[in-house]
Amino acid sequence: MKKPFPVLGFDIGGTKIAVCLALSDGTIINSARVDNRDRSPDDVLPEMAEAGRKLLAESSYKASDLRALGIDSPSPMDFRSGVIQQPHNMPRWIDVPIRDFLSREFGVPAFFDNDANAAGTAEWLFGAGRETDDMIYLTMSTGIGAGIIASGRLLRGASFYGGEAGHMVLDVKGPVCNCGLRGCYEAFCGGLALETRLKKQLADQPDSAIVRAAGGDVAKVTVRALAQAVRENDPFARSVWDEMIERNAQAMGMLMNVFNPAVIALGTIAVHCGSLFMDPLLARIPAYCWPQMNKACRVVPSELGGKAGELSGIATALYSLYERGEWELPWSR
Ligand SMILES: [Zn+2]
Repeated sequence: MKKPFPVLGFDIGGTKIAVCLALSDGTIINSARVDNRDRSPDDVLPEMAEAGRKLLAESSYKASDLRALGIDSPSPMDFRSGVIQQPHNMPRWIDVPIRDFLSREFGVPAFFDNDANAAGTAEWLFGAGRETDDMIYLTMSTGIGAGIIASGRLLRGASFYGGEAGHMVLDVKGPVCNCGLRGCYEAFCGGLALETRLKKQLADQPDSAIVRAAGGDVAKVTVRALAQAVRENDPFARSVWDEMIERNAQAMGMLMNVFNPAVIALGTIAVHCGSLFMDPLLARIPAYCWPQMNKACRVVPSELGGKAGELSGIATALYSLYERGEWELPWSR
């Protein structure tokens, strides 16, 4: 095994940015957070660079020791030019050339990808997808996005939109999605869509077990409160949960039949809810895919859990080096 080298990563989210210094074997040396809630990139960009310099100063490495840095952000973003194009939860970030800015600041090659691809790559290199050639990571958070590794390569697609699994239409008569289509996977199962729908349905039901689990305030209903009410066996919560599980099984069955992955790793909700989510899901998947695909695939919660954000930017840099033939995968094939 070659000697690990240091890499810097920036995982940009609508509320915070994780800055991380790690080694190419996935060992996190140190990390920091930069606040990004309702802030302008004019203020945030210098803080990101400063946080990266501080992590280096506190370690035994210098910027000149870095082989690369990696950045990931929510879509829409332009993969080729390395520009963030105004994600809906970052309205002040309009056409920000983030990749070239950080490359200049640190004097090293910088690589850029969307957050789902980056989290998927991190889970492939260092998490549940290790030592496979075919795996899918689903974010399962506010929205649903996929990072798809097929035949040992990250799937990007003809116009770099590959992996938008959250917008597979599961029922054309289903709920309207943020993207404008109807009945997308994300419109049924995304955290934001689910919470918005619950708040409407529960507006005149302050005694509902879900509202009680949210501290008695309908405006504070979350997927977590829903899960709590499901544990208490509340019939309405159970019916919402069962439908959500069924739609997840449908989407994952479709992905299994198309990509035949060895692993599907699931983010947020699967990590937080464990068997409450996983057991019924695994029971329903066989209705939506061939047994050959189901038998070949482990469907599991993400192994990286809390480290996913830190390692996303790192994985983006490492995967790009791998594509260029400048880095080998951390396991032998
Ligand atoms: Zn959609």
